[in-house]
Amino acid sequence: MTAPYSAWRLTLSYLLVAGLWVLFSDSQLIALGLSLEQLERAQTFKGLAFVLLSGGLLHLILHTHQRQYRRNQQALQHSERRLQQALEAAQNGMWDWHMQSGQLYFSPSYAALLGIPEQALETDQQQWMQRLHPNDREAFQRHLQQRISAADPTPYEVNYRLRHADGSYRWIQFRGRLLLDEQGQAQRLIGTASDITQRRRDEDSLRQAAAVFDATQEGVLVTDAEQHIVHCNPAFTRITGYSQTEILGQSPSLLKSGRHDRSFYASLWHALQTRGAWSGEVWNRRKNGEIYPQWQCIRVIHDEQGEISHYVAVFSDISALKRSQRELDYLAHHDPLSNLPNRLLFTERVEHALERARSDQHSGAVLLIDLDHFKHINESLSHNIGDLLLKAVGERLSTQLGKRMTLARLGGDEFGLLDEQCSNAEQAAVMAQRLQNSLTLPFQVADKELFITASIGICLYPEDANDVAQVLRNADSALFKAKSSGRENYAFYSQELTTHAHQRVEMASALRHALDRQELRVHYQPLYHLTSRALIGVEALVRWQHPERGLVPPGEFIPIAEETGLIGAIDAWVLQQSCRQMVTWRNAGLELQFVAVNASSRLFSRGELDLRVAEVLRDTGLDPACLELEVTESAVMDDPDAALALLQRLRDLGVRLAIDDFGTGYSSLARLKRLPVHKLKLDQSFVRGLPNDQDDIAITRAVIALGHSMGLKVLAEGIEQADQLDLLCQLGCDHGQGYYFGRPQPAAQLQQTLAQHTRPVYE
Ligand code: C2E
Ligand code: MG
Ligand code: MG
Repeated sequence: MTAPYSAWRLTLSYLLVAGLWVLFSDSQLIALGLSLEQLERAQTFKGLAFVLLSGGLLHLILHTHQRQYRRNQQALQHSERRLQQALEAAQNGMWDWHMQSGQLYFSPSYAALLGIPEQALETDQQQWMQRLHPNDREAFQRHLQQRISAADPTPYEVNYRLRHADGSYRWIQFRGRLLLDEQGQAQRLIGTASDITQRRRDEDSLRQAAAVFDATQEGVLVTDAEQHIVHCNPAFTRITGYSQTEILGQSPSLLKSGRHDRSFYASLWHALQTRGAWSGEVWNRRKNGEIYPQWQCIRVIHDEQGEISHYVAVFSDISALKRSQRELDYLAHHDPLSNLPNRLLFTERVEHALERARSDQHSGAVLLIDLDHFKHINESLSHNIGDLLLKAVGERLSTQLGKRMTLARLGGDEFGLLDEQCSNAEQAAVMAQRLQNSLTLPFQVADKELFITASIGICLYPEDANDVAQVLRNADSALFKAKSSGRENYAFYSQELTTHAHQRVEMASALRHALDRQELRVHYQPLYHLTSRALIGVEALVRWQHPERGLVPPGEFIPIAEETGLIGAIDAWVLQQSCRQMVTWRNAGLELQFVAVNASSRLFSRGELDLRVAEVLRDTGLDPACLELEVTESAVMDDPDAALALLQRLRDLGVRLAIDDFGTGYSSLARLKRLPVHKLKLDQSFVRGLPNDQDDIAITRAVIALGHSMGLKVLAEGIEQADQLDLLCQLGCDHGQGYYFGRPQPAAQLQQTLAQHTRPVYE
């Protein structure tokens, strides 16, 4: 029963009892038949008793009421304290906003949230708005108006940033509801506030982590402690082919490839148990059955109690990496043009072969195969064709390979063959011949039929050498020997070859001084008009009068001079000497038509030859028509346009021009036609086979016909026998030179021959 009701009942009960007392007590006293005096005393006594009784009753009531009131007060205080403590424990603040009065109430814990003293708390909405982050103010106003205008009393939750005492903004979550008065109008807003800054940060981090988890290229797999898959990311699905639904609840052993044995997994688990982590390469199986390599890192996750709660595996598919590693490895060890092993792999193989030879007591051979005159093909037909030919040569040579042989392209036009089963020189020679024979058939390259030969240097191991560098050096010396004794040869390494190499080095340094020490000589070889047998000119050929080695032929030092750059000075000197000699002869009345001087292809390619020639002609006073310059076919075809311009300038000087060693290079007929030359000098290699070799006859005939068709004279080099001369005459060759007529000799020695045979010839 409520307090007002009980108060009314008490009062009514009291009035009833008091009324009955007043009504009946006097009649009862009268009924007692007391005297007046007694009656007066009894009345007084009755009055006093009534007051006493009423007072006692009043006291009882007031006392009970007070006790009840105190108890209620205490309960209220308890309840308030409890509420306060609960709010503090939850780190929540409380707020209460009376809309009509505009008064704001904040609990002390609310002040604590923002680090401000209670007294500094805002007391009205305007002040409070100042604490709100400017970007949140509009949202706050909008939300408030919506709630008030809709008179919506349902609980709500909003988050705003409020300025903390330290100046930073904190995310505060307001939970509250609108209280309405009896008319349904908004009366108060009341609720709690809590700082959720950290929670928001955590949520942000979680969101970021989730984004990373989803977007990472690495597959991620999470299992519980019992190894049931509980989570995987999209990359996992991409790599393995298993979707989330297929894999969740399964065991990771589903992904095993079967490539690893028990001990592999035992060591993996051991690492997880002892170190809490493992990383390494694992071969797993995709859903489609494909086995592929992964790089995997596994970590153990513990809960707060330190018990294992999860395992997290992060892995990347390294099959592409492995593939590119393999490709890189292949590229590093193979020549891209021929696809053959390159020098690096070849040297490694030779090294292993030498080790095996040492341990198994057996021998083998290394053959260096160098294509003859390959440079000419490159220079005259373009590098593209040269490359195609190299590739084709590699393929052709590969067909000759047997067991335990490695063919490599060592660079340029050089190939290497390692034959680990070759036990003696004879076998190596047979192999070299086989390789050379394999090249005899023509190569069809870009609609062209090309012929190529090779020279081969052979080093046997372990007899000749027992380390890689020495094996290759020796094979190289042998190759040099093969080349110098005419092309398309093979030669073995021997100590004497090494000595020869040393001599070459010494020769290079001695050659530097040869000019200063006046050790160079010019010999002259007569050139004849074949049908009249008249001596019409001489070819100047340089020699080196070496103090120890005697007369050194140009074939031995011109290449060295070209390598070292001395050729310019040598050729200039020869030109000067020859022109001077020619002036002397002509002054002596000889009817010698011209002196032919060789120009190095090196010098020719530099393009200043005309300036030098003009200078020498000026210095010596020789009639330009008495000078013939010989340039090789390959020098001309190297850069035909530049050659054309240079030859034109030389011709403008009035000198005669001849193409030397014709037939050894690869001339383009179209270009040849445009060259302003006077003469083709048929290379002596074709004359050598005359008069019997049908091929040489055919070539000679063709060159003569070609020369004549272009209005050029043709000179045959290297005529040694009368029958060669006869045939050349028959074939219509114009001029010739050779031992048959006379060897190159010093000017003084030639004097008599010149006097006897020089006659004017009118062609
Ligand atoms: P080349 O210009 O083709 O000269 C002809 C070579 O054939 C000469 O060799 C000559 O001695 C040789 N020869 C002539 N007739 C016969 C013969 O009947 N049988 C044989 N087997 N050989 C014969 P050489 O003097 O040894 O010169 C070799 C090459 O050296 C020349 O070939 C030329 O290319 C080059 N050379 C010579 N002198 C000079 C020079 O002053 N400067 C330049 N740059 N090169 C030179
Ligand atoms: Mg010559
Ligand atoms: Mg020649």
